Amino acid sequence: MSTDAHHDKATASLAGAILEQTGVPVDKCYQCGKCSAGCPLAADMDYPPSLILRMLQAGGPELEEKVLRSYTIWVCLTCETCYSRCPMEIDIPVMMDYLRHESLRLGMTSPRAKDIIRFHRSFLDSIKYTGRLYEVGLVVDYKARSMHLLQDVKLAPKMYFKGKLNLIPETIKGLPLIRRIFSRSSKAGGEDAR
Ligand code: SF4
Ligand code: SF4
Repeated sequence: MSTDAHHDKATASLAGAILEQTGVPVDKCYQCGKCSAGCPLAADMDYPPSLILRMLQAGGPELEEKVLRSYTIWVCLTCETCYSRCPMEIDIPVMMDYLRHESLRLGMTSPRAKDIIRFHRSFLDSIKYTGRLYEVGLVVDYKARSMHLLQDVKLAPKMYFKGKLNLIPETIKGLPLIRRIFSRSSKAGGEDAR
């Protein structure tokens, strides 16, 4: 699939779209490698963060598609270690967030990231319906999506008796506002559009 769909008329490249939508200047990276050296997940990624930046700088449909189909963007924890180490203050976690959004929107997600994406959606649904994290709902929803029905099931009673699991969901006062945010995001082609 061509990545042209994610380049609107105002942007000529994925790096340009990142700059326009998030303000993160991919072109400022000079490949010192400090982000990759400090990233706790670099060993699990298909491309370390500095290489993702290099691929975006080089641009072109092939490399951009590799970035959007990468496992890296899903395994990133948003821990901000890279950001704190970067001499150019390039906000890689924000860039990763945008890349995840685009990867979902264009249906270019990594097959390796299936369970992470299922968890991501279950988490967002919990926020959408209660305005906060409802752990029991999150676990049930994730298990239904992933079919990992028995995974960690032995932990549930322990967590319940320690008061870590509320069976009844609590909602927040500002729930209508949260729902409006989801609705706007959905209309804009965001993550809620599935
Ligand atoms: S935010 Fe992501 S890319 Fe940056 S150090 Fe943490 S895991 Fe690695
Ligand atoms: S630390 Fe910053 S400048 Fe260095 S490679 Fe990573 S993003 Fe580029």
